[in-house]
Amino acid sequence: MNKGLLIVLSGPSGVGKGTVCASLRRKMPDLVYSVSATTRAPRSGEQEGVNYFFKTKEQFQEMIARDALLEYAEYVGNYYGTPREFVEKTLNEGKDIILEIEVQGALKVKEKFPDGVFVFLLPPSLGELKQRIVGRGTESQDKIDHRLAVAVEEMNLLSRYDYAVVNDEIDCACARIQAIITAEHCRRERFLHELFDELKGLTAAKNGSER
Ligand code: 5GP
Repeated sequence: MNKGLLIVLSGPSGVGKGTVCASLRRKMPDLVYSVSATTRAPRSGEQEGVNYFFKTKEQFQEMIARDALLEYAEYVGNYYGTPREFVEKTLNEGKDIILEIEVQGALKVKEKFPDGVFVFLLPPSLGELKQRIVGRGTESQDKIDHRLAVAVEEMNLLSRYDYAVVNDEIDCACARIQAIITAEHCRRERFLHELFDELKGLTAAKNGSER
């Protein structure tokens, strides 16, 4: 059985990764979502095990120590990380899984899973990005300034990704990501192993019957 696809959706802070990912999941119910662990406090409405696994710093460090995280990153004073076992199990079951994570973590995943599909979500413009970060309205000015500075640095990492998707309109962005996933499923490498195994089987059967 073919393994599932590991899809990493990343991009600068405030670009709308969370919104696009949530919409994509509604459109693709078979796409498995990797729930991250974090040390940040839950926002109103967020649920344990649905949005995040909320951890203390000690619990998070313990997860790092027992290699339970595929990657982790410190982001604006909090830790975020991807539980490893769930990702590996899902891929081995032949299911596609999506990680919605910030850029440093995405690059660490790329080292471990070079065959992953790395999608960088872009804002329609830098002005728009600033508007989205400021407009979130949930952070102090200090945090907004920091998020803006981080976002500019993050934009420089685009060259390390396989695909760039402009988030001009959520449905359009989702349609582009769905097209990418479909195309990745059609890559010839995914078929070569299976095809060769089948051919070998056929040849062995033919030789056996001729003897
Ligand atoms: P927020 O606090 O707004 O939910 O998330 C802050 C940032 O952390 C977002 O850019 C989000 O994509 C990222 N993030 C969420 N989960 C993970 C994770 O498991 N690993 C990494 N590296 N980043 C994550």
